[in-house]
Amino acid sequence: MNTHPLSADHAPAREDGDDLLFLQPEAEESDADRFARNSEPWKVLIVDDDTMIHDATRLALAGLIFNGRPLKLFNEYSGESALRLLRHEPSIAVILLDVVMEHTNSGLEVVKRVRNDLKNRLVRIILRTGQPGYTPEQVVTAEYDINDYKEKSELTQPKLISAVTLALRGYSDLLTIQSLATSKETLELLVRDRTLDLRQLNDELEQRNVQLIAARFEADAAIRTKSVILSSISHELRTPLNAVIGYAQLLDMSTHLTPGDREAAQIIHQSGRHLLALIDNMIDLSHIEAGELELNIEPVPIRTVIDDCLTQAAVKADELELKLIDADGDGGPVVVAADHARLHQVVSNLLSNAIKYNRPHGSIRVWCSAKNGTARVSIADTGVGIAPANQAKIFNAFDRLGAEFGTIEGTGIGLIISKRLTEAMGGQIGFESVEHQGSTFWVEFKALAQATG
Ligand code: ADP
Repeated sequence: MNTHPLSADHAPAREDGDDLLFLQPEAEESDADRFARNSEPWKVLIVDDDTMIHDATRLALAGLIFNGRPLKLFNEYSGESALRLLRHEPSIAVILLDVVMEHTNSGLEVVKRVRNDLKNRLVRIILRTGQPGYTPEQVVTAEYDINDYKEKSELTQPKLISAVTLALRGYSDLLTIQSLATSKETLELLVRDRTLDLRQLNDELEQRNVQLIAARFEADAAIRTKSVILSSISHELRTPLNAVIGYAQLLDMSTHLTPGDREAAQIIHQSGRHLLALIDNMIDLSHIEAGELELNIEPVPIRTVIDDCLTQAAVKADELELKLIDADGDGGPVVVAADHARLHQVVSNLLSNAIKYNRPHGSIRVWCSAKNGTARVSIADTGVGIAPANQAKIFNAFDRLGAEFGTIEGTGIGLIISKRLTEAMGGQIGFESVEHQGSTFWVEFKALAQATG
């Protein structure tokens, strides 16, 4: 391979002969040569009706390398044939263009059509004229979109090389700018697509939100309706139920009953009370779920609540021969912010369960403890405990966890009511339990202060 001594990349001129080059091609090939061999060449079109100009140009440019890429020369001898080639070879980088060919201004016609018809703004055009009189430089450069104007007489080899190199640099810069503009456009399109996607997603989410709000509104309305219906039904049920319970009690007091009839009267009484409790609990739960719970939060000395509940529970505990132990807590008397009646209801329910689900001759310990600004009431029993598999279901409404098959009365909603009430008052409820050994249920509230008495 021959490298021109005036290569734009200043490739060193060889002093070795071709023979040596042929014998040791690998050793002698320079980096620039290797790069040039592997790179696509710059396409340069020579348009002239004079074959000698073609030969001279080919000789002058032989071995020229720009940016590591060699040249590929195309030869055309008229304006028309040059245009035909340009139509099929849009990637021609430079045209060395004669002016006077088949017509006096064939070259200028080519310039016009390349820019206007082929819309090729990239190709660099070097106008070469042998008759500057026909085409004065000032007029041509002002009226035609060319990139250089040369008189053939001044085009020595070094001048031709530098003219072509400069033209190639201009072409290469334009390509870079064009590819940057394309990347920018692609990026902009991507961003626009993404923005559209996000906007669509946002619209969908907003729509979904509106649907959810509407569904929530409907659900709330349904819960409120259920609560209203339950309240009015409960009144209709309660009146005859109270009559049934009352007459069953009267019957039980009668001295003329056979033992069988007395037992029947007692069952009627017991069942009536169970039904009444169920109705009361359901009304309570539906009010809570409908957000109709009215709380009167005030400072409540927790000790008074425990005392009242223990007094109430004593009768039932005695009846079942269970020991009710009022164990002193380490926190002493504590005041919490709660609704007095509702806190009483919660502790009473936990105590009632500790009695109901206890074992014969078992015991129940109740105590209050205060730690880190919270007060906790604990109720521990020595009863059946809760199987590990059932522990996660303990606060489910109407789930009696198998107790419904036994003789212990219950409705299965005492604990869920206790949980809702405790949480509505800003407290927490929980338990620990070991099956067959017993359970400890607790409720916890923020302590306001230690009670003074
Ligand atoms: P119920 O009216 O059935 O007592 P609860 O909601 O108060 O309803 O309790 C739900 C279920 O949890 C009970 O049926 C029982 O199986 C279980 N349970 C509640 N407290 C205890 C306890 N102290 N010991 C063992 N099981 C309990």
